[in-house]
Amino acid sequence: MHLAVVVPAFNESEALREFHLRLAAVFDKLDGMRCEVLYVDDGSRDDTYSVMCSLRDADARVSTLKLSRNFGKELALTAGLDHVDADAVVVIDADLQDPPELIPTFIAHWREGYDVVYGTRASRAGESRLKKLTASAFYRVMERLSNTPVPRDTGDFRLLSRRALDGMKQLRERQRFMKGLFTWVGFKQLSVPYDRDPRFAGTTKFNYWRLWNFALDGITSFSGAPLKAATYVGSFTAMIAFIYGVWVLIKALVWGDTVKGYPSLMLVVLFLGGVQLVALGVIGEYLGRLYVEAKQRPLYLTDEFVAAAENPADR
Ligand code: UDP
Ligand code: MG
Repeated sequence: MHLAVVVPAFNESEALREFHLRLAAVFDKLDGMRCEVLYVDDGSRDDTYSVMCSLRDADARVSTLKLSRNFGKELALTAGLDHVDADAVVVIDADLQDPPELIPTFIAHWREGYDVVYGTRASRAGESRLKKLTASAFYRVMERLSNTPVPRDTGDFRLLSRRALDGMKQLRERQRFMKGLFTWVGFKQLSVPYDRDPRFAGTTKFNYWRLWNFALDGITSFSGAPLKAATYVGSFTAMIAFIYGVWVLIKALVWGDTVKGYPSLMLVVLFLGGVQLVALGVIGEYLGRLYVEAKQRPLYLTDEFVAAAENPADR
């Protein structure tokens, strides 16, 4: 049995050594499994990559992958998954917010026959009220809108079986909302609650602007609901406008036109203009994403990949 752990990291040099210590301790306890960890450097600007290299030199179970620039967590994860080939893969953050000690539990459930075992945050320590609030609002909106329900309060921390991994590798879309893709893959999935720790060191890489864009990507890649809403709002307004138009016509025919009506005119023009802009904006969001897909660019570029010393023949 072969276990691979994929760790995306962006400016995590402070946390990485501690992370590896805790992960290595977990590996040591997993008897009878060949364990490997792949650190993906997502274009860090600090010395994250050199820390990774020194970990690799000291431990034969470590592979490193360096991307050519910062592509964002979703793509760093994708790159990592592309470069591993194992019976089970665990995806985990480098900042120790997801405890590596939970991996044996994931493996036990995988042995029971689950293909995707994911950690659900029972609590989130060290995160601001606003972050928790917006996160939970997002999961609830996603739940309502999407036909691939993304489990609540679930990050990317999870284990994938080989067939789930192979499924993930086939998904080559560019706007990648990984949580949604993991769910899309299907198979037998299980949630394991855990308490999310505060960051070991450094600060979060996601400010609210990034999170908002992340949420937009999530919603537009897994739901056409905003498009539908635009259609409904548009048709509803058009209907009201039509009825009002008929009323205005009848009024003018019966009582004659007394040049009033400036307020209602402005009202209608502004309202219709507004609705049209909203609908256009929604269409634009989807169009913009189609445009990105149409360019067919590679998802990421690799700067350097060094496989773990233990299994050079694998690739
Ligand atoms: N990360 C990454 N590329 C990025 C941003 C983040 O690889 O552009 C990694 C980061 O190093 C960490 C994980 O993704 O291992 C989660 O990021 P972070 O802890 O900042 O997010 P949060 O836990 O606050 O949601
Ligand atoms: Mg974090």
